[in-house]
Amino acid sequence: MLIDHLGRIIEYLRISVTDRCNFRCIYCSTHQNWKWLSHKEILRFEEIEKIVKVGAKLGVKRIRLTGGEPLIRKNIEILVEKLSQIPGIVDLSLTTNGFFLEELGGKLKKAGLKRLNISLDTLNKEKFKILTGVDAFEKVLKGINLALDLGFNPVKINVVVIKGFNDDEILELAKLTFEKPLEVRFIEFMPIGKNSLWNENHIITAQEIKEILNKYSPLIPSNSVGGGPAKVFKWKNTLGKIGIISPISEHFCYKCNRLRITPDGRLRPCLFSDNEINLKPILRGNKGTLEEAFERALRIKPAKHHLNFTKRPMRAIGG
Ligand code: SAM
Ligand code: SF4
Repeated sequence: MLIDHLGRIIEYLRISVTDRCNFRCIYCSTHQNWKWLSHKEILRFEEIEKIVKVGAKLGVKRIRLTGGEPLIRKNIEILVEKLSQIPGIVDLSLTTNGFFLEELGGKLKKAGLKRLNISLDTLNKEKFKILTGVDAFEKVLKGINLALDLGFNPVKINVVVIKGFNDDEILELAKLTFEKPLEVRFIEFMPIGKNSLWNENHIITAQEIKEILNKYSPLIPSNSVGGGPAKVFKWKNTLGKIGIISPISEHFCYKCNRLRITPDGRLRPCLFSDNEINLKPILRGNKGTLEEAFERALRIKPAKHHLNFTKRPMRAIGG
């Protein structure tokens, strides 16, 4: 079992497979200083597999693949298949912007992917274009419907709430749960990346989100699959659920159960801390062992985050 210096049990590894993305979301891609990673710098599938095998032996049970956009990584389904067969991994999921799901959803399911998180911050086609830089609202909706039809369970929808931008859509987005068995999760906007447009005026807190939802219809506490920090509710007579994630207003660091792997092979103990362990010398130069790297990560994992802007943009960390 992986237990850190504060007694937190670490069982969740979030792996970013690329820093590249076909979208330019305003909250994620406003970081002009980030130099794209070269093909050589990015971890190969065999290297990711090696890390997961060691992690699984030490106590990692859950894996999430993310990015950047993980579905632009060529043959991603091969990695999914490899990871799904590693003994000890009981939960394999992936976060995507949904653009390539129509093409890849079936392959991913066949490869052993169990569940999906799909980002959708607005139900307005024009706003979607402004937010992501791509005219793809309908395509993403089709991807979400296909994910449900293919039997991914649960399908979670990630909504980053930005004051003045999409807070007027909180109810409409949550009402998707009447029609579909989706878990719609509202996430507080986080200050990731040096040039982020984040500032406190853009924040709408978990409490404010809850009040809006409660006013419409009382929220009933519920639960969810996965190892994440969302507080989960539902309304009466819905097929789906509602999650609220509060990294800013009420941090959940005391029960954090995860480590991250960046696309260029850094083991990152905290989303908000740039203190990382480079796995490349181990993977490519036989200097040290992955076991030692995991042990070190347990020692340096911060007790809590301090909301400092990170050097890396979100997509080079893995959201
Ligand atoms: N491209 C995929 C996607 O958009 O789902 C996966 C990578 S993306 C970085 C992972 C998640 O991080 C998305 O749900 C996205 O909305 C979220 N995210 C990105 N920047 C964020 C920020 N500044 N605050 C909160 N969530 C953020
Ligand atoms: Fe791309 Fe996801 Fe970042 Fe949007 S949030 S720019 S889809 S990585």
